Amino acid sequence: MKKSKKSKRLTKKLAKGKGVQKRTRPPSMSPSTIDTFLSCRRKAWYHKIRRITLKTPKLALELGSLWHKILDSWYTWGKKEAALKVIRIEIRKNIREGFSAFSSPTSASIATATLKGMFLGYLERYGKKDLKIWKWRKGEHEFTIDKFLGTSLTFQGIIDGVIEIKKGKTKGLWVIEHKTTKDLSYTTVDSIKVSNQTLGYIYAVQKLLGVKPKGIIWNAIRKPSKRLKKNQTINEYCTELEEDYIARPDFYFFRQQLFINKSAIATWLEEKEQVALDMGFCYDNPEEKKIWYKNTDICGMYGGCEFAPLCFRGEKRSTLLLYHPIIYRK
Ligand code: SF4
Repeated sequence: MKKSKKSKRLTKKLAKGKGVQKRTRPPSMSPSTIDTFLSCRRKAWYHKIRRITLKTPKLALELGSLWHKILDSWYTWGKKEAALKVIRIEIRKNIREGFSAFSSPTSASIATATLKGMFLGYLERYGKKDLKIWKWRKGEHEFTIDKFLGTSLTFQGIIDGVIEIKKGKTKGLWVIEHKTTKDLSYTTVDSIKVSNQTLGYIYAVQKLLGVKPKGIIWNAIRKPSKRLKKNQTINEYCTELEEDYIARPDFYFFRQQLFINKSAIATWLEEKEQVALDMGFCYDNPEEKKIWYKNTDICGMYGGCEFAPLCFRGEKRSTLLLYHPIIYRK
């Protein structure tokens, strides 16, 4: 990808170890920023103040984001071929833009086959049934709510979808959240009910549409652990995955449709008041690294923190070169 002048300037500055990017939009919090801030402030500092990210993204994150795009296409248009096309287009786009984890044509083909196998298995499990019951009101979209809880922070995020169920006990609006994971046992019904994503997204939809959604549909899929075997073609691998998803639905899928009541949202907002104050204070002191302190207990979780090289080996040219600045649009 041809880099803009701004990107080049920021990359140069970054390699010299110079800190904080000039902010172009108001400080924000999102369900995932809240999670990051509460688990490790230093990680939040790298994301939100230093605004850097790994040059080569983690494969798991890239697969997760592609999965969201496939499902968005499927639920928006209801066309299998169009969703499969999205896999190819998005992988090519990531490679062309130079920030893909797929380093070779073979790894890109394996990723394409993996996502195709997952998607075909998913369609067998839920495809047509969902389309009959769910009216897709809004696909993946960003939201921004200014002056969150009376602070100067905006509350923002990306909602995977809002659906409407027309009749029956579950009649009403629902927020949908897609997840890819390597282990479904991480998530329980209780943890979904109190998740910042569940409560934050329901709050946001209520605020923006003026109607409170009934709850959340947590739609998780396990990524395959099967790998391409020696002497197996890419097509054979894809078919094997699809068959395995169909044969072992309980192993691969975890969907929970949970009612969330008004008082759960009110309690969540009450608790977020203090978090917003803490985050606001930290944002007001971007250069004070000591208040953005580390929590080294979580460095190894979820496949390892992307900022481990900086925290473990220090900020020097060799570690800084692993990162590039995140460029935000105004
Ligand atoms: S490596 Fe550990 S201490 Fe450093 S930002 Fe990540 S989680 Fe925090």
